[in-house]
Amino acid sequence: MTYVTGDIPTGDYDPDRPANIGIGHAAVNVGGGYTYFDPAKGREFSTVIQWPQVQRRFEMNWSDTDIAYMRAALAEAERSGELGEIPVGAVVVRGSAIVGTGHNRSIVDCDPSAHAEIVALRAAAKAGRNYRLNGASLFVTLEPCAMCIAAAAQARVTRVVFGAYDKKAGAAGSVIDLTESNALNHRMEVNGGVLAEECGALLRRFFETKRGDP
Ligand SMILES: [Zn+2]
Repeated sequence: MTYVTGDIPTGDYDPDRPANIGIGHAAVNVGGGYTYFDPAKGREFSTVIQWPQVQRRFEMNWSDTDIAYMRAALAEAERSGELGEIPVGAVVVRGSAIVGTGHNRSIVDCDPSAHAEIVALRAAAKAGRNYRLNGASLFVTLEPCAMCIAAAAQARVTRVVFGAYDKKAGAAGSVIDLTESNALNHRMEVNGGVLAEECGALLRRFFETKRGDP
């Protein structure tokens, strides 16, 4: 099964502005349909591809290295979960080395800025003794929020790769696309949807367990 990611429009398709239309992003099973998790409704939706031009446009085969780094971020996310934090994990990669790791620590650290991405960026900057991380890639299991996209831009990260889309707070296209904003004086390559199913399932399990607690 090959998964691709992209915007699945429900309205008129405009190839130049794919992010501005439709229901947003989805993991697409080529030749079959696509599944789409809607956090607002709390369940997954499936349908059949009716937009072959969209499928072509967004077809993407993730490299083995992208998948391996996302797995490392997933391992970090599991650590957040063990702490009772929302399970999000991140790693910073330079060349082929992981130079910083982080998981959500806002509750345990009493720190509203301790999102996985910021923790990982801090670790990488400290390790390299430089707050600029030019050439580095940030891998994170959930689409970054506005604060984290801004932090990645401050660090001059070259590429941001995320797993699950965040329809409630995602600032890489889901709620707002800060990566395209002139408010940030830095452009980054952004790719979403790597291991989206696994990254999203970890979050879903966490919230289901939480709801089940007395
Ligand atoms: Zn964040």
